[in-house]
Amino acid sequence: MIINEKFENKEIAKQYKELLSISYLQLTKEDKKLIRLAFDTAVDAHKEQRRKSGEAYIFHPISVAKIVASEIGLDATSIAAALLHDTVEDTEYSLDDIERLFGNTVAKIVHGLTKISRLKKDTDVSLQAENFRKMLLTLNDDIRVIIIKIADRLHNMQTMDSMPENKQVKIASETLYIYAPIAHRIGMYNIKTELEDLSLKYTEPLRFKSIKDKIEESQEEQNKYIKNFSTFIEKSLQGERLKYFIKGRSKSIYSIHKKMQKQNIPYEGVFDKFAIRVVYKSNSKNERFLAWKIYSIVTDHFTPNPTRLRDWISSPKSNGYESLHITVMGPNNKWIEVQIRSERMHEIAEKGYAAHFRYKQGEQKENGIESWLNRVQEVLENKESNAVDFVEDFKLNLYSEEIFVFTPQGELKSLPNGSSVLDFAFSIHTEIGSKARGARINGKLVPLSRTLKSGENVEIITSVNSKPTANWLDHVITSRARSRIKSSINEEKKRIAEDGKELLRRKLKQLRITLNDKTTRRLVHYFKVNTSLDLFYRVGIGTVDNKKIKEFAASYNNTFINFIKKRIGSNSPKKIKDRDEFTSNYDKLVFGKNKEELPYSLSKCCTPIAGDKVFGFLTINDGVKVHRRDCPNALSLQSNFAYRVLPAWWIDSSEQRFSAKLNLSGIDQIGLVNQVTRVISNNMNVDIFKINFDTEEGLFKGNINVHVKNRTTLDKLVNNLLKINGIEKVTRE
Ligand code: MN
Repeated sequence: MIINEKFENKEIAKQYKELLSISYLQLTKEDKKLIRLAFDTAVDAHKEQRRKSGEAYIFHPISVAKIVASEIGLDATSIAAALLHDTVEDTEYSLDDIERLFGNTVAKIVHGLTKISRLKKDTDVSLQAENFRKMLLTLNDDIRVIIIKIADRLHNMQTMDSMPENKQVKIASETLYIYAPIAHRIGMYNIKTELEDLSLKYTEPLRFKSIKDKIEESQEEQNKYIKNFSTFIEKSLQGERLKYFIKGRSKSIYSIHKKMQKQNIPYEGVFDKFAIRVVYKSNSKNERFLAWKIYSIVTDHFTPNPTRLRDWISSPKSNGYESLHITVMGPNNKWIEVQIRSERMHEIAEKGYAAHFRYKQGEQKENGIESWLNRVQEVLENKESNAVDFVEDFKLNLYSEEIFVFTPQGELKSLPNGSSVLDFAFSIHTEIGSKARGARINGKLVPLSRTLKSGENVEIITSVNSKPTANWLDHVITSRARSRIKSSINEEKKRIAEDGKELLRRKLKQLRITLNDKTTRRLVHYFKVNTSLDLFYRVGIGTVDNKKIKEFAASYNNTFINFIKKRIGSNSPKKIKDRDEFTSNYDKLVFGKNKEELPYSLSKCCTPIAGDKVFGFLTINDGVKVHRRDCPNALSLQSNFAYRVLPAWWIDSSEQRFSAKLNLSGIDQIGLVNQVTRVISNNMNVDIFKINFDTEEGLFKGNINVHVKNRTTLDKLVNNLLKINGIEKVTRE
C-alpha cells in the first residue's frame, strides 16, 4: 500500500482544527490546551497503526472525539478521553502514563473504556448480550464512559464496510440490541436513529436498500406536500411576526422497517412516514405561549384529531424531550403529524441534555455539564423509568358519552359512545348506509358491526349489491340508522311482494284461477298471513311455492264445491271468519342473543300464547320454560336468577332465514374468488356472513356461511357456484 505521509499529516492537522471548531460547547483556553495534549498523545500512540481500510488509525479516535464534541456536545474532558480511548488497550501507553499526563478524571474515563473493550474480548461467548447491557448500565464509572463508548460504536458502524461480513452482522446486531436502546434512554435521538439504520444496513441489506430507495423516490413529493402545507399557515404565522422554519421529518429507515414487520404490511401501507416540524425562535419567557399560538394557527386551517395531541412541553419526557405534537387533516385529506417546538427544544430533542445547558445562565451554566451527567446517570440507573411509557400510552379520553370519528375528508362526526360502522354510515347519508358493505378504519378492513373509537378515521366501503337486512338492526344504536334500516327492509319487502304478485298471478292462471280481490282474500286466509303484502312477499321469496299453490287450488275448488253445497244447505261460511281472528304472524319462539331455537314448554302459571311478550327461564330438569313478562313470578325469577333468564322472541317461521355452510373446492384461477363473491352477491335473498378462502399449491378451498330463506334459494346458489369455471365441488356442511 502506498501511503502518502505528507498528505496524511496535513489531513490530520486539518481534522484537529475542525475538531475545535465544531465543538458544541464553548471551549476555554484551558480546554483547548487539554485537547491539544490529548491529540498529540493519541497521534503518537497510534502512529504505527492502521485500520482494516488502510487509513491511519488516528482518524478513528479523532472521529470519535468529533462525535463527542459536536453531535453529543460533551465537555473538553470527554473530548480528550475520546481521543485517548484506544491508547491503553491497543498501544504502548499505560494507564499510569495517561494519569500522569492528564490527571485522574481523564484516566478514569479511559480506564472505564478499556475495561469495556477487555470485557468484550474476554467474555465474548459466555456473556449474553442482555447481561452485557445491564452491566454497562450499572458500571460504577463516570457516565461519560458509556457516552464515549456509544460514539466509538457509531464511528465503527459508519466505517464497517471493510470488515468481513460475518463480523458486520455480529456487530450490527449487538448495536441494535445494546447501544441503540442506551442512546435512546439518554435522549440522544439522532445517534440512536443512525445506529439503528446502520445496523439494518448490515443485518438486512436488501430490505435496507429497498426502503432507502423508496424514501428517496418519494422525497420530491414529500417536499411538495410540505411546501403546500406551509402556504396555508405562512401568512398567519408571519402576521404574528413569528420567526420560524418549517421542515419535514422523515421516519427513519429502521422504524419504517419495524412497522412493516410488525404489521406485516408493504412500504406503501406505512402511515405517517413523515411529520412536519415548525421550529420557532423564542426567548424563554414566551416559549410556551408561542407554541400554543402556533397550535391555534395550524388548527385554524386544518382539523385536528382530538385524540392525538401530545403536550410534551407541559410535561417533558424523562429523557428531556419537549415538543407539542398534533395530528391534523392536512392538504389532500391526509393525516399529518405536526411537531411544534422552539429552537431550544429542537436542539434538546436532537442532542439530549447537553443542549439544556447552552441556554442556562451564570452558575447554572457552569454546573451544566455536571448536572447533566448526574441526570443521565439517574435515568440510566432508574430501572423503573416507565415515565415515558406511561405518558405515551396515556390516551386522551375526554369524552365518554360521545365519540369523535373522521370521514376520509377529515370531517369530524360525533356519535353516541358504542356506535358502530353502520351507525356512522347512516349518519353520513342514507344511501351510504344502505349500500354499506364494510369499512376501512385507519386503513384496516373491518365489518359493519365494528364498534367505533374516538379518533378513528372511517371510510365506508359500499357495494351496489348491498342492502339492509334485519340482522343489521342488531348492530346499530342510533335511532336514525334504526329507522332507515327498517324502512328500507319494508321497501325491499314491497319490491319482492310485487314480483311475488306477478308470479302468483301466472301460477294461478295455469291452475285456472284468476287473481283478484276475492281470491287474494282467500289466499290470505288459507296461508294464515295477515295481509296481502305478506302473502305476495312469501311467494316472492319462495316460502309459498308451487306445491303449496297447487294445494290451495285444490282446496279452493273444494271450497267452491262446498260453497255451492252450503248455498244449497244455506249455511253461512262462519268458520273462515273465525279463523281470521286467530291468524297470527307468530308461531315459533327463539331464544338468546343469537336467536337460537331451543326446545321449550309454556309455563302453567301464566300460560302465554303466541304474540305475548315473554322470556325463557332455564330450569334444571325441564329445559326452557316460557313465561309471560307480566307473569306474577317474573319479577322474582328475573331478580333472583337473572343468569338463567333468556330473552325470547316470537318469530314467523315462514319468514325465517336459516344459515348454511358451504364448502367449495377446485382449481385456483385468477379471478376465481371475485367470481364466487359476485355469484353470491348477485343472488338476491342470500346474505354472506362469513367467508373464507384459501389456496395452496394451486388448489382452491373455501367456505362460505350464508343466510338463506329456504332450500330452493340454497339449491339455486349451489348450482350457480358450480357453473364457475374452476369450481369442482360445492358441499353443504
Ligand atoms: Mn475505538
